[in-house]
Amino acid sequence: MNDRDPNDRDALVAERLAAVHERIARAGGTGVTVLPVTKTFGIEACWAAYRAGCTAVGENYAQEIVAKFGGLELPFHVHFIGQLQSNKVRQLAPLVAVFESVDRASVVAELAKRTPGVPVLVQVSAGHEQGKGGCEIGDAPALVRLAQEAGLEVRGLMTVGPTTGGPEEARAGFRAVRALTDRLGLAVCSMGMTADLEVAVQEGSTEVRVGSALFGERPPFRTLVR
Ligand SMILES: *Cc1c(COP(=O)(O)O)cnc(C)c1O
Repeated sequence: MNDRDPNDRDALVAERLAAVHERIARAGGTGVTVLPVTKTFGIEACWAAYRAGCTAVGENYAQEIVAKFGGLELPFHVHFIGQLQSNKVRQLAPLVAVFESVDRASVVAELAKRTPGVPVLVQVSAGHEQGKGGCEIGDAPALVRLAQEAGLEVRGLMTVGPTTGGPEEARAGFRAVRALTDRLGLAVCSMGMTADLEVAVQEGSTEVRVGSALFGERPPFRTLVR
């Protein structure tokens, strides 16, 4: 992706985005947003997604966000979807429009201090995945309330399905997260990635976060950690 001819890259990303929209439609989704996940890909991937019609990109790593977007005026938003550490909030605050991975009180406090009123999603683990962040589903209502009381604009919930065992493994968790989104009166339910977006859409996702279906394989995680 990173070393392609720009016109080819734009055409390829546009074609792959159309294929993702097709998958969503076949799963019965309407009005589902696609958040292109551009972590590990250069800013060219973000521009290609933007030119294909996307208005935001998802990124996971604070250092990468600063290196990629620092000092730029961007016509698209950056959503933070990675594991969020309180000590990274200050540098992320000017660059990130929505924090999708708020999963504990200390992060709520830091966001309220550094970027008052910022839009957020509360990340729920739904019993899925160790090491992907997210609060227990039973703790989510209190965390949502805490974030609201701290003045953050809580738009909804986010969850990451299991990455092993196939997409059906995600269904029960996705259903529970959508039910809780509704019960809390929230609008956004961000769930589903390249491998499990059909199940997520069937269970009521309003936003799928899609990386490899748009940009190809990512380099192994190890090479990304500085
Ligand atoms: C990387 C990532 C994605 C995109 O994953 P793909 O399988 O490449 O679509 C979505 N959500 C989160 C939280 C991620 O870290």
